[in-house]
Formats: sequence, C-alpha cells, structure tokens
Amino acid sequence: MPATSLDQLVSLCKRRGFIFPGSEIYGGLANTWDYGPLGTELKNRVKRQWWNSFVHKRDDMVGLDASILMNPRVWEASGHVKNFNDPLVDCKNCKARFRGDKLLEEKLGVEAVTVLSLDQIQPMLMAEKIPCPTCGKVNWATAKKFNMMFQTHQGVIEDEAALVYLRPETAQGIFVNFKNLVDTMRMRLPFGVAQVGKAFRNEITPGNFTFRTREFEQMEIEYFVEPGKDATAFEEWKQTVWDWYMGLGITQNNLRIREHAKEELAFYSSRTIDIEYKFPWGWGELFGLANRSDYDLSQHEKASGQDLKFTDPDDATKKFLPYVVEPSFGCDRTVLTFLLEAYTEEKLPNGEDRTVMKFDPRLAPYDLAVLPLSKKEHLIGKAKDIYRTILKETNLVCDFDVTGSIGKRYRRQDEIGTPHAITVDFGTLGEDEKQGEKDTVTIRDRDTLKQERMTIDALINHLKSSSR
Ligand code: ATP
Repeated sequence: MPATSLDQLVSLCKRRGFIFPGSEIYGGLANTWDYGPLGTELKNRVKRQWWNSFVHKRDDMVGLDASILMNPRVWEASGHVKNFNDPLVDCKNCKARFRGDKLLEEKLGVEAVTVLSLDQIQPMLMAEKIPCPTCGKVNWATAKKFNMMFQTHQGVIEDEAALVYLRPETAQGIFVNFKNLVDTMRMRLPFGVAQVGKAFRNEITPGNFTFRTREFEQMEIEYFVEPGKDATAFEEWKQTVWDWYMGLGITQNNLRIREHAKEELAFYSSRTIDIEYKFPWGWGELFGLANRSDYDLSQHEKASGQDLKFTDPDDATKKFLPYVVEPSFGCDRTVLTFLLEAYTEEKLPNGEDRTVMKFDPRLAPYDLAVLPLSKKEHLIGKAKDIYRTILKETNLVCDFDVTGSIGKRYRRQDEIGTPHAITVDFGTLGEDEKQGEKDTVTIRDRDTLKQERMTIDALINHLKSSSR
C-alpha cells in the first residue's frame, strides 16, 4: 500500500532523517524544510541520475552553474519585474492572505481557473461562496497583483541602485551566457544547456510539505534549435522526460500530461505542457515543458545591446536567434514524488507489518548495509573489516549498524530503503559446527526478503563490478 496521506510520509521522513522541519527549535519558518543525512543522499542521487541522463549520456548537452544574484536588468528584460505575479486576495474579515487562483482551483479544477483575469477572481470567489481557510467567512477583497521575486540589497548601501533579486528560476542564467557557451564550446544546433540550482519565489501560500516552498531547487534545460524545428524537439522532450520518470519507478497511473489551453499560454509560448503527479491531495505540477520561441534571447539582445545570434558554422551568412524548448523539473517535487512512490506498507509472510521504501536502487540513500548479527565483540570486528573493505574497494555508499536487535535493524534498513543488507554471523567466523560457513555472509534482499549466502571474496568481487 503506497502512502495515502502526506502525514505518514512526513513522519517517516522526520523519524528516519530524510527531511526535518526548518529552524525547528525556533518554532520553524513558514514551510521551510531541511534535508537530513538520508534526504541529502537521496536528493544528490536524483540530481546525479538527472545529470547522467541529460548531460553525460548525450552528445548534444553541456552543463552550467550560474550565479543566483544577477544584474537586475536581466529580470527587467525577461519580463519578471513586470509579469511574475500571482493574484493575491485578502480576507476582509480576518485579514489572512491567499492566492485567489489556487482557492478557486481547489473547487473548480485547474482548467477552469487558469484562463481567469485578475478582475474575475474576487467575483468568482464570492459567487462560488468559497470560504476563507482561516476564519470560514466569505468576504473577499478585490484581487491584487503580487510580484513573487525576493528582493535584497547588495553592498553596504540599501538604496534602489543596490537592489538585486534572488533568481526566481535558473533559466535566465543560461540565456545570458548563451554567447559564452556558443563561443567556447563550439556548439552546433540543436544543443541544450542543463543547470541545477536554487530558485526563490515569495509564494503567497507555501504548503504541502516540500511541494511548494519559497526556496527550492530546479533542474532546468534550455534546448536551442533552428526555428521551425521547435515543434519536433518539443515532442521528443515530452517523451524523453516521461520515460525518465517511468524508468526510475513512477507508476504510470500516477502521472499525466496536462496541455495548457491557448488562453493560458504565456504570450511568448506557442505550447506548454505540464507533467502532473497524483499527490495525496490531488494532481499537481511536477514538471513543465514550454516552447519559448526566441523570446528570451531577443529580449536580452535588445536590452543588452549585444548580438546574441547564432552563426551557422557551415554557412556564415546564416545568422539567426535560435528557438528554445525548455524542460523544467522541480528537484524537490521530484524527490517528493520518489518518496511517495517508494512508501509501502505491507504484511510479511510471518504476519508482521513492515514499512519499506522501495526506491529504485539507483536512488536509495545507501546501496547496502553491513549488520553484525549481535553485539559480540569478535562479530563486530569481523563485520567492521568487511565494511571497511567495501568502502575501500568500491564506490558504494554503505551503512554500518550495530544498535538494537537484528530484527529492528532490518526494519530500519527497510524504512530507509536500503536494497541489500549483509549480515555477519557466527557462520562467518566459522565457529564450532559452522566451520563450513567460514568467511561467508548472508545478503538479504529488501523487496523479496530472500537471503543468499556467499563468500566474502565473491561478495566483494560482485560489489566491485556493480559499483558505479
Ligand atoms: P506552480 O503552478 O505549481 O506554481 P509553476 O508553473 O509556477 O508551478 P514553473 O515556473 O514551471 O512552475 O517552474 C518549473 C518547476 O519548478 C515546476 O514544475 C515545479 O516542479 C518547480 N517549482 C515551481 N515553484 C515551486 C515551489 N514554490 N516550490 C517547489 N517547487 C517549485
């Protein structure tokens, strides 16, 4: 049984060191979350899989790591200063503030809401009698535009001239580096640039665990093509991303594609789709794919006065601004999705209940764990030797655990999703009647619970060959 409520997962994440509430000892801070040791491993693995699939395994992609703070003119040119707004509504009764479109979306569905203009939001909230989630009254003020960019000041003087924004998306770092990338990397179209990094949005109503936070990580690609080849590239990316999620174990029925209606499209976009996941509270955006035409490059060309055109290496007379298709992944939402998919409660053949995180082995925080059967000193010593050999001879991430009964330790490894547990027992030491088992260990499979006995040498050789 997968996680049916978010609370089950939030509790496991806290208990097992995946995700902690941010600033907890001070009472927290508005839906901020800190990744604990296991969450950090999981997130790093998600990023590594992503980078591997979309950069290392392709001959048409390179990577970038641009600054979070950028010249504020970037955000004027990109349209964010003017247009990066959400509709804010105030409850006239209790003064609480919400995103008007999201309140309507919960009742009417996303399709009905995305086409609404700002003026239509308050009348619709009143007509649909949508109550304030805080006080329960239906008394809404007119919706206002709220710009979601965080502002700060750089340097020692806090005036308008020192104003900078925390980037609300990673994408613009790629566009402003377009010329550098083309000049230094001798790129030929089509090519893409990938980037993973933090983005900041002053969301009106953060919530649903790590789904909507004000500080989050994105994994974005800008894929540049010759104008006219954008529609085909769009289709290819749609399939590639769908396959990537499925390949790492997302259940097909929990994913769907939502095509944005014409009225909903940003003015520069000819097509946008979202890949949505069935979260415990309903369908929500996991990934967005947009055809941004040459909007961003042409805006930056105009605003910076720099020539950002691409020159065909085989025909210098062919100079143009490429079109761009943008696959944009939310890293935290992707991690949340893998956590939800992995969460399984099941009954074992012996009647016991267990919770197990059935991560794809490529994503599991630990590849394996070494567990001495009991706390006997010579058993621990032998197990430590095996553990150290694994650390030395392989690139695998290995846990070592001696705390509590062996049953409890198996439960813990199940709950953190470790695919294999290696148990070192009296057979391994070849004691007494177990001489025939000397220098062998058992390997327990997380999902099938099957235990296989093999020699330590065979184990290390096997791990070395499967090690990444
Ligand atoms: P939403 O409609 O949920 O606000 P969006 O359409 O504004 O999302 P995009 O601008 O397309 O999101 O950003 C790309 C991806 O970044 C999203 O698909 C999502 O996975 C992630 N993302 C966006 N906002 C947040 C947030 N506040 N917290 C966590 N992830 C986010």
